[in-house]
Amino acid sequence: MTIRCRIAPSPTGPLHIGTARTALFNYLFARHVGGTFILRLEDTDVARSTVEYERDILDGLHWLGIAWDEGPEVAGQAARGPFGPYRQMQRLPLYAEAAERLLREDKAYPCYCTPEELAADRFASEVAHRPPRYVGRCARLIAAERRAREAEGRKPVIRFRVGEGSVAFDDIVRGRVEFNVDALGGDLVIVRSDGTPLYHFTVVVDDAAMAITHVIRGEDHLSNTPKHILLFRALGAEVPDFAHLPLILNADRTKMSKRKSQTAMADYIAQGFVREALVNYLALLGWSSGTEEEIFTLDEIAGRFDLSRVQQGGAVFDRERLEWLDGQWIRRLSPDELVERMAPFLTAALAVRRAEGAVVRDPSEAELRSLVPLVRERLPVLGAIGSLVDFLFLEDVTVEPDLLVPKRWDVAQALDGLAQARRVIADVGAVSFEADEIEPPLRALCEARGWKAGDLFMAIRVAVTGRTTAPPLFDTMVALGYERTLARLDAAREGLAAVA
Ligand code: GLU
Repeated sequence: MTIRCRIAPSPTGPLHIGTARTALFNYLFARHVGGTFILRLEDTDVARSTVEYERDILDGLHWLGIAWDEGPEVAGQAARGPFGPYRQMQRLPLYAEAAERLLREDKAYPCYCTPEELAADRFASEVAHRPPRYVGRCARLIAAERRAREAEGRKPVIRFRVGEGSVAFDDIVRGRVEFNVDALGGDLVIVRSDGTPLYHFTVVVDDAAMAITHVIRGEDHLSNTPKHILLFRALGAEVPDFAHLPLILNADRTKMSKRKSQTAMADYIAQGFVREALVNYLALLGWSSGTEEEIFTLDEIAGRFDLSRVQQGGAVFDRERLEWLDGQWIRRLSPDELVERMAPFLTAALAVRRAEGAVVRDPSEAELRSLVPLVRERLPVLGAIGSLVDFLFLEDVTVEPDLLVPKRWDVAQALDGLAQARRVIADVGAVSFEADEIEPPLRALCEARGWKAGDLFMAIRVAVTGRTTAPPLFDTMVALGYERTLARLDAAREGLAAVA
């Protein structure tokens, strides 16, 4: 028997971190066991589903490298795989047929209760402090009674008979789980009065039709599972195995929410997280390798992935850890890869500066490459590239004269220090303008004058970058180039002299 699992997103919002994590675990499971991974779009909520969300979800999963074996290829396009179509709105006849069958076998019945009747029932349970539950008013109607209601023009919903007793199953993550059928809210609406099928029904009809053997999904679906199991049985279908993944939590251990955490994958992509880090991080949200190691490629995780190592307790989404992991992955990119991935972020940051009125140069290919040693250890996300190095590409940096004067110095000393430094740096010459050529004579200068190197270096850093924190000073000067370095030192000195 081939193992088949699936991700079944509803395109009613952008790709959520939780959906990406569930998709990843399904993908990893299928890869590890040599099974088949299916993507099915659950788009029956027509009012809230959009093609844009669909595209965001599919593109985001593609971007992460989570590839499916069957399903819609790209948003709005045809599907591949023998169990299609893979969009629920294209499968409506299948649900109608299954509902027909349940009606015929009296496992479901038409229910004519009006909204007013149901509201009155709800109110009565509230008063009695009982959980809401369908009272079964239409469960035993005889044919004549149904005809009478039809004659009144009532359009029935279809309810599934949930029966009595309990439903138990062995969840791969959570172990034995048991639900009392009494607590399920009574007979379940599976088709609305307008004929559209509901989630609990479509998901089961499809999982059965697509021969899904493993349902791996978020813990928020755990309480739906007894309903699904009853429906699988009623349809005469094999009940799949279930694995409910721990919830993803905000830092305060509440369920991850838009209000407290960033939940849309697109935001992380836009900020310049790299896919390697995101899949690595998502995999660790609820799964552990059982070792101290934390850094894994997608292939390495697929090689080790095992549902038995999925934890039961909630997984806290820790942005700092994600940034750390992202920094680790950025360091592991080859120089070519890093240049290619950071270039668009630098371009975008420079465009912002240009729009603000700055005179900005576009970095050449060679300049981009020369940035690699400067930034590779310092980027938590690619989007930080602008604030780290934009000063290299601005015609003029604004220098606060105050910042040019180190704490232990006064203005006169700062002017002198910058003048001496300018002379020493100029002596290095354009040809040998390398970090290890610039540093020794500057240190020698400090020694000769009895200056703390940190003071002089701070004054130089501010002069050439306009800020007090920047990549390592000597590499920065090299990246800036001989002429520009001297010009900025001159401009800073003039600026300071003017206010002195
Ligand atoms: N469309 C459902 C969701 O997005 C699928 C749940 C399931 O995996 O059964 O939550």
